[in-house]
Amino acid sequence: MSLLIRGGLVVTMNDAFEVLEGDVSIRDGRIAAIASNIIAPHDRVVDARGGYVLPGLIQTHIHLCQTLFRGFADDLPLMDWLRKRVWPMEAAHTPASLRAATRLATTELLCSGTTTVLTMETVHDTDVVFETVAESGLRATIGKCMMDFDAQVPKRLQETTRASIDESLAIRARWDGQAGGRVRAAFAPRFAVSCSRNLLEEVASLSSRHGALVHTHASESKDEIEIVRKVSGGLANIEYLDAVHLASPHLCAAHCVWVDDSEQQLLAAHDVKVLHCPGSNLKLGSGIAPVPEMRARGITVSLGADGAACNNRLDMFEEMRLAAILQAMRLRPGVVSARDVLWMATRAGARTLGLEHEIGSIETGKRADVIVVDRDRPHLADARLLGPRQRRARDARGRRTPGRRLPARPDRSGRGHDRRPRGRPRARRPRRRCIMLAVSSAEC
Ligand SMILES: [Zn+2]
Repeated sequence: MSLLIRGGLVVTMNDAFEVLEGDVSIRDGRIAAIASNIIAPHDRVVDARGGYVLPGLIQTHIHLCQTLFRGFADDLPLMDWLRKRVWPMEAAHTPASLRAATRLATTELLCSGTTTVLTMETVHDTDVVFETVAESGLRATIGKCMMDFDAQVPKRLQETTRASIDESLAIRARWDGQAGGRVRAAFAPRFAVSCSRNLLEEVASLSSRHGALVHTHASESKDEIEIVRKVSGGLANIEYLDAVHLASPHLCAAHCVWVDDSEQQLLAAHDVKVLHCPGSNLKLGSGIAPVPEMRARGITVSLGADGAACNNRLDMFEEMRLAAILQAMRLRPGVVSARDVLWMATRAGARTLGLEHEIGSIETGKRADVIVVDRDRPHLADARLLGPRQRRARDARGRRTPGRRLPARPDRSGRGHDRRPRGRPRARRPRRRCIMLAVSSAEC
């Protein structure tokens, strides 16, 4: 199969940060050529004139299972938010509700420009998430949430250390590398508060043996780090993760809002990846992460919306905007630039996942994870190139993944584009239609 994206402004995100007007040729799921006027025939041609062609955005911290909780866990700080709302709702999940949450999440993500995620799911029924993601076209590294320690966790979410590890390994055996390599399995100990030392040490050993990512939360709120100090015998959160041998290039630590100089040195020394979630940190009142300081130390900092329950949106453009302007307030304007946040949303995300040779930029030979973003909108008039601070998720419109149709946006009548009455021909679409392509599998 082949696809030609014609005439867009291609923001390659390559090392030279090249931007060019032209065509992108995709063959068998990979980028075959980038040139000013490609004339070779293709199975399908997309007119991208008037749009930006970008690498698919990569969210490195998300919980697909929480998407149905949107609006049901507002106005609470982290530990109350977990104990009073989110854990009880996760405990109430059935396979059917989990499937619905995942479908809603994958639709929202693909329709707003995110083609790859690192996601932490709930304790049970993670197979349902893998199945639903595999059907969606999204690229995902998925972890079954591991919790064997906190007595305040609802009974249904409590598991033994052995059961938690055995199920994580069984899921890995079933799913890692499936769907043409689009889905992978990670170990996902929730955070040091709800995991025993034994569990964390065993996960560290398994991660090293399997070369698998470990996805966890760390140093998100002051309450959390005080609990970690108690359970660890006085260590700071990152020091504790180091003490249980988790600090490594495979560790993906969400938040890292409260990390002092010595913890930042530990993160840098072990090439731990930091997953910055500014929208979530604001909603829960957790704080503002020292992103410029961490980046200056060479730490890879990528971005994620976290979950619909702690953000209310899964909009990567919003996270890019917040990541930039929060640091303007905290330090000074420009300390995290528009170009920086676009890098965090693409190249840093790819590096976090160990997929930098496959995704994160539009370069010949890479996987064709590509989006097309409209710029023909009033709020973008005179917007300078690469201004995610101006852009919104709805500028990227969902159309289709290769071989699969995404849910269409409702038209003015409130009906989806594809719900036309039987027998009536499909309406001719405007020539400069806003299109988002979520090309993230080997099927195109
Ligand atoms: Zn989270």
